[in-house]
Amino acid sequence: MNIILLGIAVLLAGSCSVPPSTAKITLGIYYTFQPVQQYVAWPERKNGLEVATTHENFKNEIREMVKNTELQITNEVFQGERKIELVINFVERWEIGNFPWHKPDKTGTADGDKFFESVHKLKNKPKADIYIALIAVEISNVKLRSEFASTVSSDQTYDAVQKENTILIGAFLKHTKEKNETLLQHELGHWLGVERHEPQENCDKTQLVMCAYTISKGAISEVHKKAIKKFYLGRTGQNPPSEY
Ligand SMILES: [Zn+2]
Repeated sequence: MNIILLGIAVLLAGSCSVPPSTAKITLGIYYTFQPVQQYVAWPERKNGLEVATTHENFKNEIREMVKNTELQITNEVFQGERKIELVINFVERWEIGNFPWHKPDKTGTADGDKFFESVHKLKNKPKADIYIALIAVEISNVKLRSEFASTVSSDQTYDAVQKENTILIGAFLKHTKEKNETLLQHELGHWLGVERHEPQENCDKTQLVMCAYTISKGAISEVHKKAIKKFYLGRTGQNPPSEY
């Protein structure tokens, strides 16, 4: 009996030293509009007609977006091996009592910095690595880090922005599914450590996720791949090679 127990103990001890095969990133997702509007703005669907949908159907669309984002990482970075797992902790409608418009007439764009603050202040947030707010209008008034700060006015508009553990995706209802997936991948790229956008000459040749402007589905560049691999190795307790 003792020998068998010892054998089990050795097996358990052995299994503890094997690093996990996937690194999980937990997402908490809020949408800030009625899902009924989605088909109006996704023109490849239903010829732009407004079609009522349930919250559950809309949440499934979001789940599909996240799944496709993860699948792109699996295929383009890890040759089909699922090493990064995007786990959705919750998708919830967020009814903001006082929507942070950028202009006092309450039209146009959302005030990004106020939005970040509102997400930050939300009470009883379930646990997540990253909180993502989907917004119907574009975003402005965002103070970004050094690279852009000196050249950006408060009226500059963005499709999406990331600060610390929060991502805002704006104009969500106007974009195709592919564009929204690229925006999510782009902001996750920043969160994973890609600080700079791809040089323009690279973007002239190919549509890349980390280009400053993306029109449709972009590919993951070499710099971006390295950041994802480095994150994966770090999260799974492995040392990244020195060139990372
Ligand atoms: Zn960016």
